[in-house]
Amino acid sequence: MSRFLTAEASILSPYTPGEQPQDQQYVKLNTNESPFPPSPRVVKAISKGEIQRLNLYPDPDCTKLVTALANYYDLKSENIVLGNGSDEILAFAFRAFCGKGKPVAYSDITYGFYKVWAKLYDLESIVVPLRDGFELNVDDYMDLDATIVIANPNAPTGRQIPIADIQRLLEKDPDRVVIVDEAYIDFGGESCLPLLYRYDNLLIVQTMSKSRSLAGGRVGYGLGSPALISDITRIKYSFNPYNLNRLSIAAGVAAVEDDTYFKACTGSVMAVRSWTVSALEELGFTVVPSVANFIFATHDTKPAKELYQTLKSEGVLVRWFDAPKIDNHCRITIGSMEQMEILVETLERILEGE
Ligand code: PMP
Repeated sequence: MSRFLTAEASILSPYTPGEQPQDQQYVKLNTNESPFPPSPRVVKAISKGEIQRLNLYPDPDCTKLVTALANYYDLKSENIVLGNGSDEILAFAFRAFCGKGKPVAYSDITYGFYKVWAKLYDLESIVVPLRDGFELNVDDYMDLDATIVIANPNAPTGRQIPIADIQRLLEKDPDRVVIVDEAYIDFGGESCLPLLYRYDNLLIVQTMSKSRSLAGGRVGYGLGSPALISDITRIKYSFNPYNLNRLSIAAGVAAVEDDTYFKACTGSVMAVRSWTVSALEELGFTVVPSVANFIFATHDTKPAKELYQTLKSEGVLVRWFDAPKIDNHCRITIGSMEQMEILVETLERILEGE
């Protein structure tokens, strides 16, 4: 920290992103990306069209992408706002709906960025412990006078709660905003989308980073009532109206329009997930039931930190969190079948050598 940093900025605790190593090629199963390249339609849309127009500012309202998403989800354009990744939409939502006198509530084991934004915006956080087995019980949130943020499916566990539970939260207090982070919804989870027209206090946040192979393109979006969406747009226009660049907008449109490719990719991840869970269970792992593109696993005898380190030295990168309650688990992204075969073979070798 330099002597120029303000006292306010010096107390921030910035997010530590998962490793993005530049030194060697790993079997990369650590940051929940898609193992598949973007749809060929995305590649064509960028390289044959939009790249020629990079001299011009992009459309701050991302009209073409909003229209494509509105068609896809059968919504109106006033229900949609675009962000530079869903991280940005979440950051905007924290800024818009939490503040002095309005704390933010989230669980103790969840996406690590929530607490970072809470600190950035100087918010009071209500941290609600998960129950046994990483179960989120909405009864623990029912009476909170706070903006509630729930990752569903949760990260890093992969567990989901039924939308009936979210509905109970929305109904209990119509003046309380409930943000449902559905970053991992496209791998067999149950989206809250059917609740959107019935509850104007629901904000759903989704991303093209996982199921549409665009983590590097940074395209996320919020879906909600026109009131909530215009509140978020107000923050967006106070911060960076051109938050999506031309290439990302064009990529997003092509990705949403290629439903066949989307279904093939997500279908493969779900099939490979089942295979991986069985293979790991045979090796002595206990795996938390997951509806996400990752699994959260602990081994009967081998400590998770050691597994993570040994796998890394063998060229396989998974995620290990140095945090209470979860430090004996590894989070493993579901990659291609070939990648998961390498993971399982490597684990077999490591565990045989015990
Ligand atoms: N929510 C959750 C639960 C996540 O795990 C992630 C990925 N790190 C995000 C949101 C943000 O993803 P992105 O900004 O790539 O859309």
